[in-house]
Amino acid sequence: MKILAVNAGSSSLKFQMYEMPEEKVLISGVFERIGIDNSFYTIKLNGEKIRKDVELSNHSVAVGFLTKELLENNIVDSLDEIKGVGHRVVQGADKFDRTVIVDENVEKMISDLSCLAPLHNPAALVGIKAFKEFMPNATHTAVFDTAFHQTMPEVAYMYALPYEWYKDYSVRKYGAHGTSHKYVSLRAREILGKDDSKIIVCHLGNGGSISAVVNGKCIDTSMGFTPNAGVIMGTRCGDIDASIIPYIMNVTGMNANDIDTAINKKSGLLGISGISSDSRDIEINAENGNKRCILAQEMFSRRVVEYIAKYYVLMGGADAICFTAGIGENSISTRKSIIDKLGVLGIKLDENANNIRGEEKLITTSDSKIPCYVIPTNEEVMIARDTYNLAMEEKNV
Ligand code: ADP
Repeated sequence: MKILAVNAGSSSLKFQMYEMPEEKVLISGVFERIGIDNSFYTIKLNGEKIRKDVELSNHSVAVGFLTKELLENNIVDSLDEIKGVGHRVVQGADKFDRTVIVDENVEKMISDLSCLAPLHNPAALVGIKAFKEFMPNATHTAVFDTAFHQTMPEVAYMYALPYEWYKDYSVRKYGAHGTSHKYVSLRAREILGKDDSKIIVCHLGNGGSISAVVNGKCIDTSMGFTPNAGVIMGTRCGDIDASIIPYIMNVTGMNANDIDTAINKKSGLLGISGISSDSRDIEINAENGNKRCILAQEMFSRRVVEYIAKYYVLMGGADAICFTAGIGENSISTRKSIIDKLGVLGIKLDENANNIRGEEKLITTSDSKIPCYVIPTNEEVMIARDTYNLAMEEKNV
């Protein structure tokens, strides 16, 4: 069965087509700069990457090119062969604790939740509409970034703010990257060969979050009401003293939008280093002795360690610590800097094993009290699995 996994942003559209249940990737690609000038798309097929510069005035046009590629490359003979399309949706709040089939009511609920994800949810809806137009007979599903975190108990998701803010304005922790945390923790349980497990997942990319997963259920995560909580990220500050915000507004005259931009786009690794949000640039400049890049690196790994320590205590131990996403999978020095700070827990890095990028690997010594793994994330396959299961269910009804 052919299933498409789709991730629509405001100006981009990523896709991966699977043959399910074999989980074989048939074609993948990304449309960029949709609705902006110089738009283009790249597709990966048979190990080859092809780029095409085309005008992409909106998402519908992009899906049009996508369907053309699918047909011309004989991935499908007819679009009706595509039985399911899974759409990544950032914010499902407490309304969705799992993947669902998108009907009119679900579309409305995703739209209503846009107030909690003003950039992301509307983009997902645009994607859903565009694909429904071309593939009206397929089962369309919404896979929520927040769903995996819905098992968090109240004591983890509440903020110590006026209770009415929760009741009247839905202010609570929702988390994000849930699909990645779910995939990596599932994979870790497979590697460990046991279901009753305590796993810490460190998803460290441009955005970063850490989660504590007990017996397959998330009990806490570092992102909060929005993705700007927890660890230090490329351009986001993560946890800060909330009173800094009114203070800076008072002394500078900045308004809420200016502050939002500063804490989301100008902080994190970029804010501290003054050079870049990209951990590779930070690494190179730190090696060359740049003090602010060295500080950024140290702050980054220290904050990750703080969360690992917190979750270790909350879970009463840990069976595995996993690293994933751009930095977690590829930055040898960041992993070393984090793991070296965990010696008190009896964790010992295997420097040779750690010398890898982007592959699944145990990176601690055999006498390390807790094994640490690199596990490349795969959100797309999770989207495809859920969509395949729902498409099968719908077909049988
Ligand atoms: P996003 O959150 O945008 O999906 P990614 O998961 O792609 O982000 O991660 C991007 C981050 O991964 C960047 O900071 C980048 O520098 C880092 N990264 C990617 N490759 C490497 C590498 N080889 N070494 C160090 N860092 C890397």
